[in-house]
Amino acid sequence: MNKRTTPALNPSSLVPPRIRALAPYVPGEQPKIRGLIKLNTNENPYPPSARVIAAVKAATDERLRLYPDPTAAPLREKLARLHSCRPENIIVGNGSDELLAMAVRCFVKPAAARNAGARNLVQFFYPSYSLYPVLADIHGARTNPVALNPDFTLPSVPELKRGRQWNFRAALTFVTTPNAPSGRGYSTAELKRLCRVHKGVIVLDEAYVDFAEENALELALEYPHVVVARTFSKAYSLCFQRVGYFVGHESVIGAVQKIRDSYNVNGLGQAAACATLENLAYYRANFGKIIKVRERLIRELTGLGFAVLPSQTNFILTRPPGFAAERWLAELRDRKILVRWFSHPEVSEYLRITVGTPAQAEALIRAAREILEAN
Ligand code: PMP
Repeated sequence: MNKRTTPALNPSSLVPPRIRALAPYVPGEQPKIRGLIKLNTNENPYPPSARVIAAVKAATDERLRLYPDPTAAPLREKLARLHSCRPENIIVGNGSDELLAMAVRCFVKPAAARNAGARNLVQFFYPSYSLYPVLADIHGARTNPVALNPDFTLPSVPELKRGRQWNFRAALTFVTTPNAPSGRGYSTAELKRLCRVHKGVIVLDEAYVDFAEENALELALEYPHVVVARTFSKAYSLCFQRVGYFVGHESVIGAVQKIRDSYNVNGLGQAAACATLENLAYYRANFGKIIKVRERLIRELTGLGFAVLPSQTNFILTRPPGFAAERWLAELRDRKILVRWFSHPEVSEYLRITVGTPAQAEALIRAAREILEAN
């Protein structure tokens, strides 16, 4: 037995420099303040359907000791029926975030790869979902953030070609559609023009698509390099359960299946998502209510002097009048209304506000009017 004492270990030397330098993703706050109107993380203001809650309760019995279905087969079968494809075209994840991370691990060469070129490149427009660069950094991939047009519309293919920064061979490209945090929708026709000339894998992140006029699912079933990401979190009131999925060509989906954790989607999440798909009429009615409140919010805030972007999502991006957006965040918080402000320079003049119930919208407009009168 070696009697020598172990030299003092510097714990940070155990962490690779890449991870030491990593700026992690910052999720929106989840405060549990009574009476708070929470419009900061794009959650659905309506509960899951009563049948979904019953299905989760019914699954909470002695079966909790068993592993869940490893491939979420019943859920994939239902999703395949919904989207007129085959279960092999679908993989389910622990929220769509897990699948976005798996896409990076699956399709992008890791840091160590020398001369990897475009095979080591994760590409995305900005501003868009701020998780993408974090996933690339974790993997040691290079990132290629390409600016949207100043009004947050999508640059056309000729513009991307002229601008030269866009890499049509990037190993993995994320396009948030409709976009976050701008709320802008992109037409399927313009996405198709982009996909047609692209060589690498493109993930069309449709987290908010149920609130939009169009979706691009047909592209995932037409082009082998196009994958659509969906989630039960937003439109289907299931953030808590963490269920999302990819739709795509069976060989691309099959590749992601190979790197998946064996039991990545918990059993209660699978039960909840299956029951959700049997209650779609309830959710579709909620989309209608949310869209109506969204349009009302846009009208009324515009009337108060806010510049509001058109939205195809369950949130709006707005430049408030009078003083800085960061101060608006604090003024609204003082009135127990929580919205989201991002410090990134391209959106720091804006607030992102989740569309809630009619009563929440009314409270927000009342508070905005009060703040304007007091300043
Ligand atoms: N994509 C976008 C654009 C999002 O805003 C979010 C939610 N933050 C997600 C994906 C992830 O959703 P989830 O992991 O809850 O499915």
